Amino acid sequence: MSSSALVLFSGGQDSTTCLAWALSRYERVETIGFDYGQRHLIELSLRPQLLASLRAQNPLWQERLGDDHMLDLSLLGAISDSALTSDTAIAMQANGLPNTFVPGRNLLFMMVTAALAYRRGITVLVGGMCETDFSGYPDCRDDSMRALEAAINLGMASSMSIATPLMWLNKAQTWTLAEELGGKELVELIRTDTHTCYLGERGVLHDWGHGCGSCPACALRARGYQDYAALK
Ligand code: ZN
Repeated sequence: MSSSALVLFSGGQDSTTCLAWALSRYERVETIGFDYGQRHLIELSLRPQLLASLRAQNPLWQERLGDDHMLDLSLLGAISDSALTSDTAIAMQANGLPNTFVPGRNLLFMMVTAALAYRRGITVLVGGMCETDFSGYPDCRDDSMRALEAAINLGMASSMSIATPLMWLNKAQTWTLAEELGGKELVELIRTDTHTCYLGERGVLHDWGHGCGSCPACALRARGYQDYAALK
């Protein structure tokens, strides 16, 4: 069994849940985040406090959680014209993908994560990609991740694995997973301290967390939380 993992950690609901998942399984866990010229840097600014709070919630997590790596991938902003990196309204495009799609973003993230993991002696790469509440991002598909895993191991002569614990969960099940991993305390941390809104709004604290309440990311998060709460 692998004992170390590197988690793609953006400061959002999904990646925070993935980090708790990794901390419950691996003896050493490091985190990686990317600055790629996002319109809104709120997610990234929340990361240090989230890491501190996770350490404070659980002595085992405190022991296991190691270095955080923040890398500059501003080249993504330079080559893409997406509603996440430029001041464009969120809309569907003619090809059926939302214009929040940054082409190849998750492929590039995972590739850079693999390169860092190689140097750090880490063999499991953890990401919050999810196919269930499909946002139309083809680089979040399980097939995309399995193909990338094969390419990484061929290209680096390595035996890494890509773990995507949220791949087949809907948003309500992601909240339930958080509760299983860290109880009400973790659910509350994710609710109040993570950020998902595409528009970068914190605003008032809704029952599902902060955000504008109307962009696709807020709508998905709100519906998921309501479904989760209805199960109680
Ligand atoms: Zn929003």
